[in-house]
Formats: sequence, structure tokens, C-alpha cells
Amino acid sequence: MPEAKILSGKDTAQSIYDSLKSRILSLNRKGVNPGLCVILVGDDPASRIYVRTKTKKLKSLGLISESILLPEDVKQDRLIKVIDDLNKDSNYQGILVQLPLPKHINSQKIISAISPRKDVDGFHPENVGWLSIGKPRFIPCTPKGIMKLLKHYDIDLSGKNIVVIGRSNIVGRPISILTSLNTEGANGTCTLCHSRTENLENYTKTADIVISAIGIPNFLKAEMIKRDSIIVDVGINRVDADNEKGYAIVGDADWDAVIDKVSAITPVPGGVGPMTIAMLVENTIEAAENFG
Ligand code: NDP
Repeated sequence: MPEAKILSGKDTAQSIYDSLKSRILSLNRKGVNPGLCVILVGDDPASRIYVRTKTKKLKSLGLISESILLPEDVKQDRLIKVIDDLNKDSNYQGILVQLPLPKHINSQKIISAISPRKDVDGFHPENVGWLSIGKPRFIPCTPKGIMKLLKHYDIDLSGKNIVVIGRSNIVGRPISILTSLNTEGANGTCTLCHSRTENLENYTKTADIVISAIGIPNFLKAEMIKRDSIIVDVGINRVDADNEKGYAIVGDADWDAVIDKVSAITPVPGGVGPMTIAMLVENTIEAAENFG
């Protein structure tokens, strides 16, 4: 039986960073150094780690990257004021508000307060609209990273049966739009499944590519997929483990069960995660190139 190809986001992200260097240099020559400001509300440990990873990566490439930490009980108006100030601050071409936000804050209002020209996460309704009509400006980082990863491994989506599990605005819905656009590298036939989907297996079993973004460890079993299909595992789940840390990070797919059945799969960690960070860097550079 041929071995499944491991779609390494880590390696692909590195090749993207290498290719971004000349774009950074050419911006620098014009006197622009791309800058990103990340706003973190509260002290959720996972969010803190994500923000640190993002800012560290940008800095390692010589870009400007700062974070603003606000207390968990910050007033919505105060947060909007911080965003307003950043919208006017020419040191930053990109603004990112780390999600999720505390319950007393209306996330949609906050996302809409970011200038669409600095919205490197691609969540602003204006940018979602551009994506939906096939003329993307900023594409959300995780779905964009998935598309780049598949392209890097010459996986052609045209005419393929693609099943996405999960319909969040961050991952599931935008990747369903991207894979089905009438553009080069897309043209897939996409079905978007979610927790109300009846008989999910009937969809996943017919899929050439399953993209799982639900956040349930070992959810996707071998009997749910077609032989030689491809799994893109977006899930990041912490499970107890018999190791030094006492936990391990796993995806949505039951790796040991599916690995002998798939033709290709993204690992967790080291798959979609590193691509998400690489796309944030790329979107920040794009913001500087287009609007800086
Ligand atoms: P959300 O919780 O916002 O969305 C989860 C989706 O999964 C929902 O649409 C939900 O359906 C659906 N779902 C839940 N249970 C089932 C089920 N039993 N069957 C079918 N569908 C189900 O999560 P996110 O999209 O933000 O994230 C998903 C996962 O991806 C998480 O593990 C997250 O950590 C990870 N992630 C990874 C990233 C990376 O860079 N690798 C980036 C972002 C997220 P419904 O809408 O009906 O509730």
C-alpha cells in the first residue's frame, strides 16, 4: 500500500517566508517597513500563546510587530477607541484583534471598527464581501493557508468533491467559498457541513478532499472517508497524554486510523497552523504594498 503523503505546513511556510524576503526588501527601499499591531483582551493562555507566536514570527523577519494588552473587563467603547487610533497610525498597516473576545463585547462591532484596508485577518464585512464575489482583498489566514498548502503540493481542486466540516466565519465558511470560486486553483464542488448535518458520513464518504474544522479530537474516523482521499485537518485539540507536559495537541482526524486509507494528510501540529501564521505575515506585507 503506498504511504500517505504528509502535507507539511512547516516546510511550505518556510518556502513562503523565503519568497517574502524580496517583497519586504523592496518595501524597505521605498521607506516602508510593514507593521502589525495585535490587540489582546484578557489573559486567556491559548490566546496569549497565539499572539506571542504571531508577533515573534513577524519580528524575526524584520517587520514591526507590537501587541496591546487590555484587561478582560475593558469597555467596548474603549476598545473601539484603541482601534480608531490604530486605524490612523501610519506605523501599522495591519491590525488584528485576537478572538474570541469576552462575552460583554460585540465581536462583529469590533471587527467592523477595523479599517478594511488594515484588516489583515480578512474578517471585516467589506472584505468578506469581496471574497464572496471572487475578488478577494484580504483572505482570512487559515483558509488562505490551506489553499496555498494544497497548491504547493500540486493538489488540483478543479472538479473535485470537497467536503468542509465546520461553518465558522474564520475557517469553514471562507474555505467553502475559496474552494468553489471560479478561479485558478479552485473550481471544486464544495459541500459545507456542520453540527445540524444529518448523516455526515454520507457526505464525507464521497469526498475527494475532507477539510475538517470542528475542534473535536479524533472525530474523523477511517470508516467515514473514501480510500485515497485527502484530509486537511484544521482542528487544534489538547488531549491528555502520557508525556512530560501531560498533554498533546491533536487534530480532528483519528490519525492512526486514517493514515493507511488516505493519499495525503496534513499533520497536527505542523500542518495548517504554520500556514496560518505565514498568511498573516503575507497579508501584512500585502497591506503595506497596497495601502501603505
Ligand atoms: P468554531 O467552534 O467556531 O466552529 C466549529 C464548527 O464545527 C461549527 O460550525 C459547528 O457547527 C461544527 N461542528 C461542531 N460539532 C460538530 C459535529 N459533531 N459534526 C459536524 N460539525 C460540527 O471553531 P473554529 O472554526 O474557530 O475552529 C475549529 C477548529 O479549528 C478548532 O479546533 C480550532 O482550534 C481550530 N483552528 C485552527 C487554526 C489553525 O491555524 N490550524 C485556526 C483556527 C481554528 P455549528 O455551526 O452547527 O455549531
